[in-house]
Amino acid sequence: MYIILLGAPGAGKGTQATAIAQKLNLAHIASGDLFRQALEQGTGLGRQARVYMEKGELVPDEVTTQMILERMSAPDSEKGAVLDGFPRNLEQAKALDKALAGQSRAIDRIIAISVSEEELRKRLGGRRVCRQCQTVYNIVESPPEVGGKCDKCGGELYQRPDDTAETVKKRLEVYFEQTAPLIDYYRQKGKLIEVGGEGTIDEVTRRTVAALNEGELIAR
Ligand code: AMP
Repeated sequence: MYIILLGAPGAGKGTQATAIAQKLNLAHIASGDLFRQALEQGTGLGRQARVYMEKGELVPDEVTTQMILERMSAPDSEKGAVLDGFPRNLEQAKALDKALAGQSRAIDRIIAISVSEEELRKRLGGRRVCRQCQTVYNIVESPPEVGGKCDKCGGELYQRPDDTAETVKKRLEVYFEQTAPLIDYYRQKGKLIEVGGEGTIDEVTRRTVAALNEGELIAR
């Protein structure tokens, strides 16, 4: 089973993808996390991606698609995966469809999470991420119990360098220009589920699970 989480930066894709992947026992594949890992490890892929990530632009399709398809062929993805942050434009979506068709597989559902632009800016500005386990906090709305430390693993919280105001502006532009058109692409295929992304994390998870239930992807 393959599920795609679609939404603007800050919509909560990562948080919801983690919850859904756990519930359905699927791999969670996050393109941004894979790039950040490569960057931290100082690999060629990381060096290639850095230039684009720093500017809030998309890493070239060929590099990104190859990275994701490779990750999708790992043993833990055999039963399927929740894709978070990929595809991000029409070219990537078509390349993914083609690769899956070659294995007689297809995307089962696309969950589009919508959040107002004002809320996205608020979330991204206050976002802090655990360096160790990637849990996401917001210093205003969902702060950790102890400042600067992860509640789950005690790891150090940091602000992503691309969460600064200028880069956020660019990332939102890129989203509306290149990624948002995917909503129509998948709607036409009849596989789209639209979920309101405002409210608490648990509320959004409940809405998402209910929508997947309706599509009978989760056994009642
Ligand atoms: P994210 O963590 O999903 O916000 O991604 C962080 C950055 O990684 C993006 O701003 C892009 O530079 C890059 N990136 C992540 N996913 C993709 C993708 N599917 N295509 C191209 N670039 C991506």
